[in-house]
Parts: sequence; structure tokens; C-alpha cells
Amino acid sequence: MKSIQCHVIVVGAGIAGFSAAVRAAETGAAVVLIDKSAGPLGDGNTLMTSGSFRAGGKSPRSHPSELYEFAMSEGVAYPDLAMAWANNCGRAVEWLSNCGVIVSETTPGRIWLEPETEICLAPVYKKDVGARVLAKLKRRFEQFGGRYLNDLAAVNLICKNGRVSGVIAVENDETLECYSASVILSTGGFSANQEMLRQHIGQRAGNCKLRGSKNCTGDGLRMALEVGAKAVNLQYFYGHLLSRKALIDDRFWPYPRLDSFVEEGILIDRNGNRFVDEGRGDVAVANELARSHDVTAAALIFDSTTWHAARDDAVSNSAKTPPPNPWLLDNEGELFCHDAIEGLGEAVGVNGLNLRKTLEQYNRAVQSNAASVLPVARTGKPKPLCAPFYGLKVVPGITFTMGGVLVNGRCEVLNAKEKPIQGLYAAGDVIGGLMGGHRGGYTGGLTQAVVTGILAGENAARSDS
Ligand SMILES: Cc1cc2nc3c(=O)[nH]c(=O)nc-3n(C[C@H](O)[C@H](O)[C@H](O)COP(=O)(O)OP(=O)(O)OC[C@H]3O[C@@H](n4cnc5c(N)ncnc54)[C@H](O)[C@@H]3O)c2cc1C
Repeated sequence: MKSIQCHVIVVGAGIAGFSAAVRAAETGAAVVLIDKSAGPLGDGNTLMTSGSFRAGGKSPRSHPSELYEFAMSEGVAYPDLAMAWANNCGRAVEWLSNCGVIVSETTPGRIWLEPETEICLAPVYKKDVGARVLAKLKRRFEQFGGRYLNDLAAVNLICKNGRVSGVIAVENDETLECYSASVILSTGGFSANQEMLRQHIGQRAGNCKLRGSKNCTGDGLRMALEVGAKAVNLQYFYGHLLSRKALIDDRFWPYPRLDSFVEEGILIDRNGNRFVDEGRGDVAVANELARSHDVTAAALIFDSTTWHAARDDAVSNSAKTPPPNPWLLDNEGELFCHDAIEGLGEAVGVNGLNLRKTLEQYNRAVQSNAASVLPVARTGKPKPLCAPFYGLKVVPGITFTMGGVLVNGRCEVLNAKEKPIQGLYAAGDVIGGLMGGHRGGYTGGLTQAVVTGILAGENAARSDS
């Protein structure tokens, strides 16, 4: 069996893995970064990112106490990790910039990576943010003597006497033993693993659409669990409701986002009833639908004011995400419109009579400021819906899973007793403990990945075998 030896092995070449690998190499370690894809820059979610570098909807340069408070507000984050993230978001911006990544603040606090990227409408609206960022990190990695090996999939961790000392990896049918003082797992989440989605998110969650890379198959989570790691918050994901009709590809249709339809409309099950507080926001609503028994039968109902306002893009001030109106129609999407609510119900495949009762009750409650006492309370800023009514058949789209391997503020992987597993670190979407919760709890995939990558790289480089 062939073998290699180095100080730090990083498994997974997305932005978390490259950040970890560069930082470990900058710290003086001999680093090998491996990826299971054939690509020169991995093939994970990073290659699809839009590059919005936010920290819980705030500037990553916000005061750490403000960021910490946001991360802890859902009640599911771990204080040590949340504190480390909050303390290092601002530093991550400067570090990326030092690595040559173009970091642009389009309006105060609104930071984008590589904003001058090519735009396309599908499958991702910005074509090459991730590739540009990773190419720069890769250049720096190689300048510091790092080695990148693609087409090499880690399958198991090497663990002796409770200490991780390398990985077993496979290239075609050949096995390679990679020995190191420390291993950093940065393999992304498990959004592309239907079995894990069913196990952790909901029995029918395998029917959700994948809104990210097919390589996020939960390998790092599986390997870490095999050596006794603790996993947390596995039930949460970042994602959005998507139109059920698959246009671009049966599996992957990330845009346009339907946030404003959720905020101003109602989500209905096949019986014509509301079942979730839409005021919790699009991410939380997508999570709730994914956990239900009827993942592929819900419809989003809104009215013509909301449809016409959807021409304005509330998501981005710089490069515009394609707004649903007219994107849906221009791309043979399904949009239903009817003057009578029963008729719309039949068209979107839900019980029209019940839908009428639901809508009448909803409108009455909203008009009399009593939305909080509806059978399913409605928070946010609901408005009464008026004819003509619009509807979309929807399904949750999973961008990335928010839960994963629990790490501390040094990005050491923790065991069931929340003690570090010697030699094992994790970064990026493979981790859990920062995101998730009742209202979504999204701190930002990129800030999580870069901050934990930096910390994992620094600490792994310093660890002795
Ligand atoms: C469409 C889209 C838009 C997004 N936009 C934004 C945004 O604007 N802002 C934001 O903050 N976040 C955004 N995100 C989320 C963000 O991109 C991710 O959170 C982040 O890129 C995760 O990086 P990562 O390095 O942890 O994982 P990934 O980039 O997914 O990388 C994981 C890597 O691990 C490799 N791998 C997996 N298993 C193995 C194995 N066994 N052995 C070796 N290699 C393996 C994969 O091939 C892959 O290259 C977006 C995501 C998507 C999909």
C-alpha cells in the first residue's frame, strides 16, 4: 500500500479546506490538501457561491459582542465556538484580502468576495466567484509549499489510542495511507446524501431539491462519528422554497428565490390548511416543510401586489439575483393565477374549498390585528390577500446542512463528553454548533467556513503528534 507523510492533512478543498490549508502552511507546517473530485479547485458548494460575505445579516466587521449575540439568539449555538466566530469574522476579511482575494464593500457593511464576476442566470446566478477565490488561495498555498492532490477520496480516519494520525484515501481502486500529526475535515455537509437527510431532517426530506454540490455527501461527518465525535444540530439546513417544476435540471434549480412570497403570502398543505408561521422567514419555513410528511405537496399563495413587486430584487444591491418576475415565465416556469381562490386551489393541487376557508379566516385575522391568535399564529408583517390570487407549487431546496461535527473555539473536534479528539479538527459546512434554530439561525456559510478554516489551520499546524 502506498503512503505519504506530512504535518497536516486537509480533507476537502472548498473555501474552508483551502483557508485551513493556507493558514497551516503560512504557520510553517507541511500541508497536503486532498479532494475527491477531479477538479483543480475541489467541486463543492464554494464553486456555486454568490460571494455575499455576511455575519448573521450584519457586517463581519461588526463588534464581536453583536455577532456573538446574534449567533446565540436561537439557543442552539455553542458559546465557545460562537465566540471564536464572532471574534474572527473581521479578521477573516483582512486575511482573505491579504491572500489576494478581492473584497468589496458595496454599501457600508455589505461585503462581497470577487464582485466583478461573470453573471449568468442558472444554475447559479454568479458564475465564478468561488473559482476566483479558490484560485487565489491555491496560489498562496503553493507559494508556501502546500501540495494539492485531487481525485483522492478520504474514506476512513487512522486512529490509534484515541488519537487521529491520518486518513485512508482511495484513488480509483488504489488505497493511499496519509499519515500526519493532525487531520482537518472540511468535506462540506450532507445535503447530497438522501439517506442522511431522511435520518436527520425528516423521513421524507430525501424529496427535497439539492441546491448545492452533489459532492456534499456527509463523508466527514461519517468519518468523525466513527472515531467518537459528537454531532449537533443535524436537523437544520440553510435553503429556500423553490418552485417544484424543475427546469434546468431535475435535481438542481437554485434561483429565483421566493422569499418575498413567503413573507407576504401563505403556505398551504394539500388539505388547504396553513401549517407553519410564514413570518419565521423563508429558511425556517423550508425547514418546516422538509420535516413534514408531505414535502412535495405544498403550495405558496400570494396576490398580484406581491407578484408585481417581485420585479424588485430585495436580496442584492450589486449584482442582481434574477427576480421571480419575470424569470419564472421566461423560463417556462409554472405560475398559477385565478380570480377565485377555490379555482387557484384546484390548479395548484390543494383542496380549494378548505383553502377558501383558510384564506377568509386569515384575512379576517390580519385585518383585525389578530394574526397571533390564528390556529397557526402568524408573525412578521402579514397583509390581507386579494384577488387575483397567485400560486406556486413548491418544494424545499437544500443549499447546505447547518449541523455537523461539534468543534470548540480552536476547531478541535469534540467527543461525546465534549473533550477534544486529539489530532482531529474540522471547518466549514461539516461542522455543527454555530447555526440553526427556530427562525433559521443563518450566520453565513462563507464566514463560518473562512473563520473555522483559519482557526483549524493555525491550531492543527501547532499540534504535535
Ligand atoms: C448556490 C449557492 C450560493 C451560495 N451563496 C452564498 C453566499 O452568497 N454567501 C455565503 O455566506 N454562503 C453562500 N453559500 C454557502 C457557501 O458556499 C458554503 O457554506 C461554503 O462554500 C462551504 O464551504 P466548505 O469548504 O465547507 O464546503 P464545500 O465548498 O462544499 O467543499 C467541500 C469539498 O470537500 C470535498 N469532499 C467531500 N467529501 C470528500 C472526501 N471523502 N474526500 C475528499 N474530499 C471530499 C468535495 O469534493 C468539496 O470539494 C452558497 C451555497 C450555494 C450552493
